[in-house]
Amino acid sequence: MKELNKAIFLDRDGVINDNSIAYYIHHLEDFKLNDGVLETLRCFLNKGYLLIVITNQGGIAKKQYTILNVNELHTYFKNILEENGIYLSAIYYCPHHPEISKCLCRKPGTLLFEKAIANFGIDPLKSYMIGDSEHDIIAAEKLNIKGIKVKSNANLFEEIKKTAFSYLLE
Ligand SMILES: [Mg+2]
Ligand SMILES: [Zn+2]
Repeated sequence: MKELNKAIFLDRDGVINDNSIAYYIHHLEDFKLNDGVLETLRCFLNKGYLLIVITNQGGIAKKQYTILNVNELHTYFKNILEENGIYLSAIYYCPHHPEISKCLCRKPGTLLFEKAIANFGIDPLKSYMIGDSEHDIIAAEKLNIKGIKVKSNANLFEEIKKTAFSYLLE
């Protein structure tokens, strides 16, 4: 049997990009990478982890922006990464909001993680989730993925370095 992959899951807003600019980030000009993100992602790739972003985008259900806006933003984001030699395996987003309709994919729901695990043959026990919200960590831990809580909009590299998981950056 083929060996399973290991992955690092990442929340988007507050972890990858600065979300102090606006509550809902959907304009390209509002999308600013947090410090240390490129350096951190490069370390993870070098260690053989797949990179997968899992993000709640309830603004879609609330009609603040559309799926097209999200896809456009994600293309922009992936282009920035690729210019820096960094490749994401996937970005999964939940377009729902509990005030509009319930779903299984909005974190702390686990459906998006389960999809990624199935699509990429991932071993949860060898994988991590980096998030700035308790919901990110709860979702991951339901599936035995190790959660790494970081401060919002801080230098991601420095934040991870402070945790028990600093070995991921070595
Ligand atoms: Mg967040
Ligand atoms: Zn959902």
